[in-house]
Amino acid sequence: MPKILIVGGGYAGFYTAWKLEKHLRRGEASVTLVDPLSYMTYQPFLPEVAAGSIQPRHVVVAFRRHLKKTRIVSARITAIDPEAKVATFTPQDGEPWQEEYDVLVVTAGSITRTFPIPGIADSAFGMKNIEEAVGIRDRLMGNFNRASNLHDSPLKRRLLNVTVVGGGFAGVEAIAELRSLSSYLVGKYPTIDFEETSFHLVEAMGRIMPEVSAKNAEWVVRDLEKRGVNVHLNAQLVGAEGGVIELATGEKFETDLLIWTAGVMAHPSAKGFGLPQDERGRIRANAALQVVTAEGAVVPGVWSAGDVAAVPDLSGSSPLPDKTCVPNAQHAVRQAKRLAKNLVAELRGEAPIDYNHKNAGAVAGLGLYNGVMQSGRFSLRGFPAWVAHRGYHGLAMPTWERKLRVVGDWAGNFFLKRELASLALGRPRAVFQEYALRPAARPRADEHATPTVADKAPTASVATAAAPAAPVAEKAPAKPRTRKPAAPKAE
Ligand SMILES: Cc1cc2nc3c(=O)[nH]c(=O)nc-3n(C[C@H](O)[C@H](O)[C@H](O)COP(=O)(O)OP(=O)(O)OC[C@H]3O[C@@H](n4cnc5c(N)ncnc54)[C@H](O)[C@@H]3O)c2cc1C
Repeated sequence: MPKILIVGGGYAGFYTAWKLEKHLRRGEASVTLVDPLSYMTYQPFLPEVAAGSIQPRHVVVAFRRHLKKTRIVSARITAIDPEAKVATFTPQDGEPWQEEYDVLVVTAGSITRTFPIPGIADSAFGMKNIEEAVGIRDRLMGNFNRASNLHDSPLKRRLLNVTVVGGGFAGVEAIAELRSLSSYLVGKYPTIDFEETSFHLVEAMGRIMPEVSAKNAEWVVRDLEKRGVNVHLNAQLVGAEGGVIELATGEKFETDLLIWTAGVMAHPSAKGFGLPQDERGRIRANAALQVVTAEGAVVPGVWSAGDVAAVPDLSGSSPLPDKTCVPNAQHAVRQAKRLAKNLVAELRGEAPIDYNHKNAGAVAGLGLYNGVMQSGRFSLRGFPAWVAHRGYHGLAMPTWERKLRVVGDWAGNFFLKRELASLALGRPRAVFQEYALRPAARPRADEHATPTVADKAPTASVATAAAPAAPVAEKAPAKPRTRKPAAPKAE
């Protein structure tokens, strides 16, 4: 039975596996999905998670619940030998191992693209995974708590400043949702005035949101400004050390919450896969989603889709200079569906079909009851666009189980208002650690000190009797071993 290996379980990887489960006949092939995470993340909902409109766990889809016939491996693929058709699996714990495959699907996605600007790596949040969205929310709400005890001071202003770099969809949705949350929070903190909060959106280009028309983008800027967001266009961030934001325009201000959303790049792990890549590190693919060399020759049995792949956009609607599909969920999902069909067709000796999808448009939520939507020349703004945003994404969320949870959160918030609890998830052991009793210092072997009362106390004696654990010898990195894949689950 041919072994299909899928690297990465984001939109593209999850949908490929999900659709293969549907299309493959019993015993036709076995499917393995590898990802260090145990779920796919519905990234368009991250700004709403940060704003408390949706519970974090509801925007992820657990593989082990929804992929019933796929073998799931929690590891990272760190190397691939495409000639030998062998992949190296590296788990978080334990030794790496190698496995053979017959068909490879690379859907490793993308990471946030950064530049070597001082302070970014050390202090900024990205907005690409669920931990970041939860961390941003906790930071903002924690800062409101801290600021509520301060009189007007530089520290109070810094705590109540939110700066987002990048005027693409992710950045605009993030600042709009956080502004909406903060305006709500101001009403709950009598010691904080609206004027004491400050929001900055920094964009290097002369406009935001290239996915919508210039007119709609200008409307979004005006709308954000009305709601108290300072939009800096043609403004490059040149420094963020110690939270001091410096723009190329000469402007300077301090922030305690810096969010970086200025673009994405193909996942760097793709470098180790020995497959043809373009100048931007993306895996080269043809319109049928087969991996190809720079000359266009098909690499047999290797497929790719999603943000990690450079797939030609046959619809002619790509704004990119090389006319490849832009990295978005719209393409990732549809490419994955086509890839699964093409892969099955090839197994059955049939010809694959080219992927051709004309951009359906874009829809963004800009905080509660506000949004913008553009599809061709048709556009909506404000409340109708917000309804379209929720309608579209509510339906696009994979699986009915997840759809219901998300819609349930929205309905709950409508009747019961926004969730305002902030959980210090970054320091789960803080309280326990602060109050936990520690063993008294043990006398050294050569010391003949008289035992103290504390030494005789039962708790102390039990604690001191326990010798400190011997340090675990560090193992030399093991050579990858070859493991036989587990038998595929019966259908
Ligand atoms: C805030 C935000 C809002 C967005 N809004 C929209 C929107 O409204 N509409 C839209 O169309 N798009 C939107 N997008 C873009 C969209 O989410 C991405 O284009 C989409 O997630 C790409 O899917 P993917 O499967 O290619 O990659 P990803 O979803 O990034 O998944 C890649 C997966 O591969 C795994 N992986 C990486 N390397 C390895 C390895 N070596 N071994 C094993 N696993 C690996 C990762 O852990 C990850 O799970 C948004 C993105 C963000 C961040």
